[in-house]
Amino acid sequence: MKAFSKKRKLTSRAAIFLDRDGTIVHDKPGHYLTNEKLLKLYKCVPEALEILQKMKYLLIILTNQSGIARNYMSLAQSVKINLHLQKKLKALGINIEGIYFCPHSPQDKCSCRKPKLGLAKEVLANHNINLSDSFMIGDKIADVKLGQNLKIKTIFLKTGHGRNQILQYGKKIKADFMAKDILSAAKWIAKQRVER
Ligand SMILES: [Mg+2]
Ligand SMILES: [Zn+2]
Repeated sequence: MKAFSKKRKLTSRAAIFLDRDGTIVHDKPGHYLTNEKLLKLYKCVPEALEILQKMKYLLIILTNQSGIARNYMSLAQSVKINLHLQKKLKALGINIEGIYFCPHSPQDKCSCRKPKLGLAKEVLANHNINLSDSFMIGDKIADVKLGQNLKIKTIFLKTGHGRNQILQYGKKIKADFMAKDILSAAKWIAKQRVER
């Protein structure tokens, strides 16, 4: 589902697919973000997203929100949190092209919960995206697997659930780059561009 999405453009652009919790906003294991007042950006987020935006990447958020299926929050509340995040970033000069979310729980066996491709397919139907130069950034193995399912480059973050995921999955996390945080991910992407 989408909280919002801008109009499709004719020219194709590469995208940065961003996870939300633990990537852009603070996330602690076992804590669901159920109220926009609890939303807190990592300090380096504005600088990181500005670097990516200057490189003309579309910034698109893909987020699993099983807290909806678990009845921790309503669908409307989740949309409200996403719109609040979009506004907050807009005020910092960062344009988010769309926020897409899966409202289901793992038991629902839906086709949109990351690492499944449902959300990405929805994005590709709404935007003209050049996948060959696109990246996925997230703090869970599911984010890396989603990127691999899309055949794009992947960056794993040690923020949010990152360190726990490394303890749990170790070398099974086969990201193209393991980054300290989203800023180091953005700088790595910028470096890839220069080297090409
Ligand atoms: Mg996350
Ligand atoms: Zn789903």
